[in-house]
Amino acid sequence: MNTILTGDRPTGRLHLGHYVGSLKTRVEMQADPTNKLYVMIADVQALTDNAKTPEKVSSNILEVALDYLAVGLDPAKTTLFIQSQIPQIAELTMFYLNLVSVARVRRNPTVKTEIEQKNFGEGVPTGFFIYPVSQAADITAFKANLVPVGEDQKPMLEQTQEIVHSFNSTYSDVLVQPKGVFPPKGMGRLPGIDGNGKMSKSLGNGIYLSDTADVVQKK
Ligand code: ATP
Ligand code: MG
Repeated sequence: MNTILTGDRPTGRLHLGHYVGSLKTRVEMQADPTNKLYVMIADVQALTDNAKTPEKVSSNILEVALDYLAVGLDPAKTTLFIQSQIPQIAELTMFYLNLVSVARVRRNPTVKTEIEQKNFGEGVPTGFFIYPVSQAADITAFKANLVPVGEDQKPMLEQTQEIVHSFNSTYSDVLVQPKGVFPPKGMGRLPGIDGNGKMSKSLGNGIYLSDTADVVQKK
């Protein structure tokens, strides 16, 4: 039996990158009745770089939920939930922050790239800078042992594994050590239609699951 946790930020509708990177694996995992699958709409994490546009986050919660249903995630088999409704995740994040150095957070290559792409520089919101630590809280709160995600999430999984190791050896052996489940080689990072290295909601370079056939053709 596997316990599986994944999620998406409600910063826009879901695109083909999500499909090849994570959604397809989730739907396959859902088909096995011995799996317990949790899928989270990460609104708290989305706020870390959208604090001044909260309506963008709240309005996209429903869009992401609709895309989930459209690809075949079934609420009768899978637990779909909104991150902010589980405040214990934020509480756990506070404790994990004490186990991670600033230097370690700074080394995360995905966060580094995102800070550059978003032109944050030194003005990066602290919450955004430390979001990989909050992801460790997401995963461990549900005792997930598998996390199906795209390639950009590899550094986040490593960060979670380090936190679990540090927590268990310092306090007591209570956290489950999770494993990432990544798409087959060459499928893990779908490029954007602008030639950017990654199709991303925030970069506006996506082919969306809800795009009509003529829009897809144009793109
Ligand atoms: P944002 O720009 O707001 O960060 P995003 O498009 O990167 O949005 P996320 O919600 O951050 O999407 O990612 C959700 C999941 O989809 C993660 O598991 C991530 O690895 C995967 N994913 C996102 N973009 C791609 C992509 N281009 N190729 C493969 N997987 C992807
Ligand atoms: Mg992202």
